[in-house]
Amino acid sequence: MHTLTMPFEIGATYWLPSTSPRCEVEPCPVCSGSKHVTVLAGSETFVVDCDACGLGYKGPQGTVSVYHYDPHAEPFTIAGVVRMDDDGWTVKSTDLKQARFNTLCTTEEAALDVSKAAYLAQEEHNMRQRGHRRKGVSKATWTVRYHTEAIKKLERELAYHRGKIGKGQAS
Ligand SMILES: [Zn+2]
Repeated sequence: MHTLTMPFEIGATYWLPSTSPRCEVEPCPVCSGSKHVTVLAGSETFVVDCDACGLGYKGPQGTVSVYHYDPHAEPFTIAGVVRMDDDGWTVKSTDLKQARFNTLCTTEEAALDVSKAAYLAQEEHNMRQRGHRRKGVSKATWTVRYHTEAIKKLERELAYHRGKIGKGQAS
């Protein structure tokens, strides 16, 4: 009979590095949550929908989702074995969390290091996301420019038509 030897003891405490990011909803960096962008055209201001936080037909949300990661480690006291497969042992803790035994660390320091590494990877991901969002901002800028041009054109036409009326009244 084949006997498996557990590389740990039930009741032993290890440290679990936290690797899952926390999603936080933040005010839109373009409209600051107002959902609108004010366009200055000469002495007049016009308000247009913000494109940076726009979600298709739902329109601007005023918020954007950003993933944050706080490096931390949690104590993990082994309460039992969940399974043993090709990836090794999966264990459960006394507070009902599950983890692969090979992801557990023997010290809090070691677990924090693993957690910090995951944090840095997440920060890099956020940087790339911000890059994408910058493209979104330029799209919003483009939209603003489009509206500004449209307004200028309408103003020229209005001025022309007003001029016609003015001339008509004067004569
Ligand atoms: Zn916005």
